[in-house]
Amino acid sequence: RAKRAGGGHAFFHPRYDQPVPAEMELLVALHHALEHREFELLYQPIVRAHDHTVMAYEALIRWNRAGTVISPLDFIPLAETSGLILPLGRWVLREACTAVAQGRLTRVAVNVSPLEFTQLGFSEQVALILRETGVDPQRIMLEITESSLLDPVRGKEVLRELRDLGVHVGLDDFGMGYSSLSALAQLPVKVLKIDRFFTQHVDEPGAEGHRSVELIRAIVILAGAFGLVTVAEGVETAQQAQTLQALGCDYLQGYWFGRPEPLQPGQPPASTDVAV
Ligand code: C2E
Ligand code: CA
Ligand code: CA
Ligand code: CA
Repeated sequence: RAKRAGGGHAFFHPRYDQPVPAEMELLVALHHALEHREFELLYQPIVRAHDHTVMAYEALIRWNRAGTVISPLDFIPLAETSGLILPLGRWVLREACTAVAQGRLTRVAVNVSPLEFTQLGFSEQVALILRETGVDPQRIMLEITESSLLDPVRGKEVLRELRDLGVHVGLDDFGMGYSSLSALAQLPVKVLKIDRFFTQHVDEPGAEGHRSVELIRAIVILAGAFGLVTVAEGVETAQQAQTLQALGCDYLQGYWFGRPEPLQPGQPPASTDVAV
């Protein structure tokens, strides 16, 4: 059977181009889940580095399948190869925008998969959801990854359309791909999310820790020079938070500040005066 290589075309049998039965079953279940509202969004706080004020939340999807919670890592890849991510992504954005429009959150970051971003009419789709929900676009940030920008000309065009709508765009998992910061500086992207791969080692002694610290230092300096703000992801300890703040990261996110959680009925909204 096809190897599960991170989001590749595992859905088809390598030799016969046939869907793998187990994944066919999962796909049927995913369709069913979308129709029967088995998905839920959890929200994880993003805090300002210098005083830990919550500035926004990132929406993270979960699938409640017959009492079992399934991680997005276990179904987003198949949703992507099958195209189901398109209706799923619309649901996610609509749900998150609704929460903001209802005043239950002041700002939200929503993950957008490369297939959604590169789909013809993506920004029109976003515009429609903004209109339908009546949300202030300034309160929404779309998180894309470098693989959304493989076609730089088209990528730039979509980014401009999104900027014109008034939504923010952040580059997720920064440092894992190959885009240069100088190329990025020419795009209407204002937020860089530094991947947990780097933040998790900052307090380790030895070469690994040293490398991570120097990498983050370099990213932060260059980001600053190009007018980009940085969010360090995956902050798990007070010590890491302290180190990352000292390195100049603008915002922090991770279990130390809060795990992804369902929206509470009476949850106070995050602060309003923000840059994220
Ligand atoms: P991501 O966008 O990089 O999200 C960060 C992931 O790190 C989340 O995993 C979050 O729960 C986890 N995390 C946050 N803080 C910490 C920490 O301190 N330590 C550790 N070890 N992990 C931390 P999650 O929720 O399982 O999501 C995994 C990935 O699935 C996301 O990575 C994103 O790529 C994708 N995803 C999640 N929700 C959506 C969605 O609505 N749409 C799309 N297209 N993708 C989504
Ligand atoms: Ca993200
Ligand atoms: Ca990320
Ligand atoms: Ca990630």
